[in-house]
Amino acid sequence: MTLNISGHTVVCGIIGDPIEHTMSPAIHNAAFQAMGLDYVYVSFGVKGEGLKQAIEGMRALGMRGMSVTIPHKVAALPMMDKLDPLAEKIGAVNTVVNDNGVLTGYNTDATGFLQAMLEKGVEPAGKNVTIVGAGGASRAVSFILADRGANPVILNRIEEIDWAINLAGRISETFGKNVEALELNRDNLARALENTEILVNATSVGMSPNVDNTPVPADLLRADLTVYDIIYNPVKTKLLQDAEAAGASIISGVDMLVWQGVQAFEKWTGQKPPAELMKAEVLKYL
Ligand code: NAP
Repeated sequence: MTLNISGHTVVCGIIGDPIEHTMSPAIHNAAFQAMGLDYVYVSFGVKGEGLKQAIEGMRALGMRGMSVTIPHKVAALPMMDKLDPLAEKIGAVNTVVNDNGVLTGYNTDATGFLQAMLEKGVEPAGKNVTIVGAGGASRAVSFILADRGANPVILNRIEEIDWAINLAGRISETFGKNVEALELNRDNLARALENTEILVNATSVGMSPNVDNTPVPADLLRADLTVYDIIYNPVKTKLLQDAEAAGASIISGVDMLVWQGVQAFEKWTGQKPPAELMKAEVLKYL
């Protein structure tokens, strides 16, 4: 691979901590090269106290785009000049676009999550959705589902039930819906799933190396469910394997990861990247 970096090359990147295992440089650079775009994408390990300087640095250096990952997605939001309305509602940004020094924050975790569903022919509008987990990713997922017109129910472990209560409260307030927050246990899962068409795992349960774990017992899964696990490592979690065995439709977190990247790429370049190539890059790492 020969890189032709010159004084014209447009620079994008990612900030986070830790950052060493990010797949984003591979995904974006492969797409830039495939499309013959004079862009490059690099990663920066930025600690909490360095965030403000990193964002100002992006502006000063004239970087075109930045991905923002853990732990900066919430703290970066007030540092933006403009916010996409959905990112503002969610309270977190993962993509920044620099238009001549004006920084706009977006949340393509949320919109990428939705696009991955739509690409598989699953339309959440008007559907009941059971969401397991109430952390950062659940926030993006729950808001975009409510924004699309779905009816979410959010379950979280009793120790941190306040996360689910607060999240459900904010969504109820924002969208004028009555969103329920429930303790994550078998009875509540069974009750929520009875009326559900789509189940989303937004916890880290089942993520590598704990690949034999699942947040939902296999016997609660049915053929008429769509089961979407936002975990991308492994590509097919225990939950997705159980769902497939029950005859359900499945969506992997790999698709969310790819579509959030596709959407960021579109915002930076104004062009549609090859999503299949970006997915193939991700799969090389998994
Ligand atoms: P987070 O903010 O730390 O939230 C983790 C969630 O998992 C919380 O709801 C937590 O519950 C729950 N949880 C953890 N261990 C649990 C257990 N043993 N039993 C029940 N619940 C448990 O993390 P996050 O940023 O939201 O990420 C969650 C997952 O989404 C990760 O696997 C991450 O890789 C994945 N993700 C994927 C994408 C993608 O593009 N596909 C994007 C973002 C995140 P408590 O509140 O009770 O601790």
